[in-house]
Amino acid sequence: MPIYPIKGYSLTIPIGAAKSPPTIACLDEHNLVAISRFGDRLRITATAEFAGYDASHKPSDFAFMKRVTQELFPDGAEYDRAQMWAGLRPMTPTNLPLVGRRRFKNLILNCGHGHIGWTMSHGSARIAADLIAGRAPAIPLDGLMAA
Ligand SMILES: Cc1cc2nc3c(=O)[nH]c(=O)nc-3n(C[C@H](O)[C@H](O)[C@H](O)COP(=O)(O)OP(=O)(O)OC[C@H]3O[C@@H](n4cnc5c(N)ncnc54)[C@H](O)[C@@H]3O)c2cc1C
Repeated sequence: MPIYPIKGYSLTIPIGAAKSPPTIACLDEHNLVAISRFGDRLRITATAEFAGYDASHKPSDFAFMKRVTQELFPDGAEYDRAQMWAGLRPMTPTNLPLVGRRRFKNLILNCGHGHIGWTMSHGSARIAADLIAGRAPAIPLDGLMAA
């Protein structure tokens, strides 16, 4: 499959005693930092890096996204308690997922969703379920097998 790993970083930070956390998800479009509210935690994500299959990380990888969030929400979370994580997004050259049949009739693909796998999960699952059940997919497959 034409899928390449694109590394991203995230911080998960307890709000704890902080007084002014964001109440809804937001995106700093200038700095490309996304901030989501996860109940009593903040999840901050940033960066798209070509690093092969290496998902390792070090504290300095998170300095920029932490600083940006702290500037926006100085009393938004207990920043010293941040948990660090890095993961790989399965990207295709066209940025479209590979959903449906390709070479083998009995193999249904549902992969390559890149940075919006959650967002596309219900639609992709619907297509896969329709194909497995032998129905015409309710969602058109146009472009989805192009990569
Ligand atoms: C940095 C980053 C940012 C993202 N941002 C977004 C976003 O903003 N919006 C969006 O819609 N999507 C986003 N995604 C994509 C989204 O996270 C994924 O599409 C989604 O998590 C896929 O869910 P899943 O349950 O299929 O797989 P996963 O979340 O990968 O879960 C698979 C689980 O199976 C476990 N596992 C694997 N192999 C085995 C085994 N052999 N035995 C037992 N357990 C095993 C793994 O440990 C893991 O817990 C992002 C991804 C990354 C990496």
